[in-house]
Amino acid sequence: MSELTFRINQFQQKIRQLEVRYARELDSVQLLAVSKRHSTETIRQAANAGLEHFGENYLQEALDKMNVLTDLSLQWHFIGPIQSNKTRGIAEHFDWVHSIDRKKVAQRLDQQRPQGLPPLNVCVQINLSEESSKSGVHLPEAAVLCQYLQALPNLRLRGLMAIPEPLSRLCDQRESFNQLARLFQQLQQTHTDMDTLSMGMSNDFEAAIAEGSTLIRIGTALFGLREPASTSVQNHR
Ligand SMILES: *Cc1c(COP(=O)(O)O)cnc(C)c1O
Repeated sequence: MSELTFRINQFQQKIRQLEVRYARELDSVQLLAVSKRHSTETIRQAANAGLEHFGENYLQEALDKMNVLTDLSLQWHFIGPIQSNKTRGIAEHFDWVHSIDRKKVAQRLDQQRPQGLPPLNVCVQINLSEESSKSGVHLPEAAVLCQYLQALPNLRLRGLMAIPEPLSRLCDQRESFNQLARLFQQLQQTHTDMDTLSMGMSNDFEAAIAEGSTLIRIGTALFGLREPASTSVQNHR
């Protein structure tokens, strides 16, 4: 068994343990492997170890990888900030987008989703901090954006995503995830199909699972440290 396969198996076990510890239903937390700035060989190994969902932040890097991995049947999730001029590539090649934070991007993704494909699964990214510099909509604006998304035929509103500011204590991490979970429950009353709470990364997935995450986005804890952006762009060209 390769070291990566071992690490993936260990991590899946860890998720199952945390589901038990926090009284979550078995298999209610899904693992999204964040493969940005990792090689196609790494993705292939992870797929062989049973992973199916992969997250990428940079369109061109992701398209290059998809081209090499056409023989695998994988689900690709776009999780990075979205520039409007990148929406077509995202709409044509991804299965999920976690980082919807404005109408314009949603409208373009809807218009540009090819007719032969199922609707694009989308999550609204929420900005949990007060800083205006971070991406994501603020809590009070989430309902309006969800309402807007619900009406777009080629998008399917699946839930919410957030990247809270890094905190080291479990109780503090839980507090910010709890804000997102409460908003999620509130919105579910109107949007009854919403089933995805995308929260938790390598440093805070335990707190996220404790607060009801259904999908954790894990890079470093599975694949180790990432290559610096500059070299990886060259490698994936
Ligand atoms: C890079 C990234 C991750 C993975 O982060 P790790 O700390 O390496 O697990 C998760 N979510 C988003 C949105 C990211 O950009």
